[in-house]
Amino acid sequence: MGIIVQKYGGTSVADLERIQHVAKRVINTYDQGDNVVVILSAMAGVTDNLINLASEVTKNPDRRELDVLLATGEQTTAALLAMMLKSMDYPAASLMGYQADVVTDCEFGNARIIEIGGERIKELLKKRAIVVIAGFQGHDTRGNITTLGRGGSDTSAVAIAAALKADVCEIYTDVDGIYTADPSICSKARKLKEISYDEMLNMASLGAKVLQIRSVGFAKKFNIPVHVRSSFSDEEGTMVISEDAGMEQLVVSGVTSDKNQARITLKKVPDQPGVAAKIFSPITEAGIVVDMIIQNTRSGGQTDLTFTVPMGDFAKALEIEKRVAEEIGAEKVFGDENIAKVSVIGVGMKNHSGVASIMFTTLARENINISMISTSEIRISCVVDEKYAELAVRVLHSAFGLDAE
Ligand code: ADP
Ligand code: ASP
Ligand code: MG
Repeated sequence: MGIIVQKYGGTSVADLERIQHVAKRVINTYDQGDNVVVILSAMAGVTDNLINLASEVTKNPDRRELDVLLATGEQTTAALLAMMLKSMDYPAASLMGYQADVVTDCEFGNARIIEIGGERIKELLKKRAIVVIAGFQGHDTRGNITTLGRGGSDTSAVAIAAALKADVCEIYTDVDGIYTADPSICSKARKLKEISYDEMLNMASLGAKVLQIRSVGFAKKFNIPVHVRSSFSDEEGTMVISEDAGMEQLVVSGVTSDKNQARITLKKVPDQPGVAAKIFSPITEAGIVVDMIIQNTRSGGQTDLTFTVPMGDFAKALEIEKRVAEEIGAEKVFGDENIAKVSVIGVGMKNHSGVASIMFTTLARENINISMISTSEIRISCVVDEKYAELAVRVLHSAFGLDAE
């Protein structure tokens, strides 16, 4: 008898009819003899509605109280499913994050899981109960409710699967697997049978929201196979697993776009030792992650420095840099929110040259200007004007031979 963790996303629990459907799926697995732990998201749209509600109270809601509010979305669905299972004569129990002992740091709204004390879950499983856990939430060491960032139920699921040494973590969503590009913007995207943890880490960090990036980090660290599949069909989805020799090694296995980025430029910065540190240290201290950086040297001992940050940190980063610019004597600081990062990802790139030139040529053919470039062993990213993001994904998908017949 194994342990199967099943996570159902917002669209899969959007109303009572769908929760009923989830109950049937859970029972089906349970009746085959496995132990089942279910992690639930809030009903589709509920988290957004709660955020809007809070913003009607105040422009800047207290982060602790906001987490108390947001956690109610998952509390609702977990209670409803457990109630439903019990009404169908199946032993079930709902647990909130703190009851399942999901311990996090105290970064409200974006907390990281530190550990999971799975004792209560294990005890319930021993009694053959179906354990239904509210995703997206945990508690810090002082007992405050925390939430794990948007899409965080994926991370709850994989972390709980790791703590229980589950056989598999199934992620049920509104697509039937992981595709070579977001199927909602690229109709020719193909479903992948499998994808390596490293490729998925890149896809997730570069805009493919099908899995929250931290969930993939946990899966890789604890070697948990993650099966992404549809809650509306029985078809096999995509396995996220460690890279192995038998895997199909596509040169490029995915194309992503991320509009959730903004760019900041400092113009005419004195080109002296220590300046970069002055520009980036306060940003790091504010907990902001800088992604791409470019420096253009000008004549006359000056340089322009441009970097990207997540959209949510843009205003804060801009404010910091305005202060820094005055201090170091830079001429001007300006920002641009209308950018997108388009990326191609594939482990096969390690053994192939020429991927970058195909990418640049393809974008040039469409007259899409590239303003920044960054590369790693298994990905290439270009910053382009936001309005070209979808077009760029489609033409790159086609140029790398990924289009479905
Ligand atoms: P859930 O609510 O179930 O967590 P999400 O909306 O978070 O679902 O994630 C599923 C969505 O991810 C899909 O509807 C799809 O539009 C999007 N997506 C982005 N990139 C990809 C990709 N490469 N493969 C599959 N889905 C993707
Ligand atoms: N309900 C949360 C969100 O909408 C968490 C999740 O669904 O994974 O982001
Ligand atoms: Mg999600």
